[in-house]
Amino acid sequence: MMIRSIASAKNLRGLRVLVRVDFNVPFKNGRVSDDTRLRASVPTVKYLVRQDARVILLSHLGRPDGKRVPKFSLRLVADRFTALLGRRVKHIPAYEGPAAKRAVMGMKNGEVVLLENIRFSPQESGNKGELAKSLASLGDIFVLDGFAVAHRADASVVGIPKYLPAYAGLLLKKEIDGLTKLTTRPGKPFVVILGGAKMETKVPVLKALLTKATAVLIGGGIVSTYLKAKGYGVGSSLIDEGAMKQARGLGKHRKIIWPVDVVVGKTYGAGARRVLLLKKPHTICKKGEAILDIGPATLRLFASYIKRAKTIVWNGAMGYFEVTPYDVGTKAVARLVAGQSKGKAFGVVGGGETVQAVEMVGVRDDVDLVSTGGGAMLEFLGGKKLPGIEALRRKN
Ligand code: ADP
Ligand code: MG
Repeated sequence: MMIRSIASAKNLRGLRVLVRVDFNVPFKNGRVSDDTRLRASVPTVKYLVRQDARVILLSHLGRPDGKRVPKFSLRLVADRFTALLGRRVKHIPAYEGPAAKRAVMGMKNGEVVLLENIRFSPQESGNKGELAKSLASLGDIFVLDGFAVAHRADASVVGIPKYLPAYAGLLLKKEIDGLTKLTTRPGKPFVVILGGAKMETKVPVLKALLTKATAVLIGGGIVSTYLKAKGYGVGSSLIDEGAMKQARGLGKHRKIIWPVDVVVGKTYGAGARRVLLLKKPHTICKKGEAILDIGPATLRLFASYIKRAKTIVWNGAMGYFEVTPYDVGTKAVARLVAGQSKGKAFGVVGGGETVQAVEMVGVRDDVDLVSTGGGAMLEFLGGKKLPGIEALRRKN
């Protein structure tokens, strides 16, 4: 069954369109510090405004755990989105009840509002109670645009489409189309690059992609866990104790390419040095040292794979790139992936920190798909059905 794109919906004029976006952006000193996710939904909202619809945006922010926590209000997000859209986006300090109803009823064609943080409701997570029904009563049709929440079975994601005609937004559509290219007939060689800190989220996707990929290059925290499991001395490196056995098992796979050297040092940046990895386990880190990046020989090795690739997917930083000099590996991989994507490969990059790294080196536009989903992208690539996407299917 097909998913309908909002671009195919006719006569949107005057309709109240409930749009579930992912405006869960980070804040620093009371300001939005990264507006990637806001910018990603601008095309869908602009499209609806041009069609003269009445746009009601819905999002969560942080983890207020079902309580009204003022610091998680979407008020400042509405202001930032106003600037990005070039059009007033009014913040409504409610998502249900008379206040929400009144605000929505008073809207004019082409107007845009942002309701309050939907996670203030204890019924949002896991789609409990009557919340979905009450949200649905505010609109005529529903659009899911936030790909990054498509893997959550929440009221505003899977609940509303039970009551309203449902469509994929332009962002969601773009993400599904791009990622589908990776899961069906990817051009070969197909190179997967995995790094980052959250090992448990990466292993399922690694397993699913191993059959399709030509090679899987591994950097980041996973490497320390693997090396420790093999008996190397890894000092105070980032370790996922629960994944040691799994890591050792992966070590045997012929498609997995592990680093041949690493950069170790103190986490605040001092005393960085390169350590070559020998076949026989040995001490890599001295007391107080940790493995914090891939080394130069590894980078050359990884580059040789990336430069031949026709399809590339990258998720997870190669090292602790927030602190110099441990940013070298991640930034170099960002440039390599972008360069190849600009050329003959179809390149996809996803995950909060990974996208940040790509932006830091200014190569975002060279990548074919910059996915706004971290967890959602991994689950999609891992072959799981995402509840938010399935909910759109059912309605057709
Ligand atoms: P993403 O958000 O891109 O999916 P993760 O959230 O899994 O990636 O992990 C990103 C984080 O992993 C980065 O903030 C980076 O600092 C950290 N990281 C990667 N490698 C290491 C390492 N060797 N030691 C410590 N932190 C690391
Ligand atoms: Mg992350």
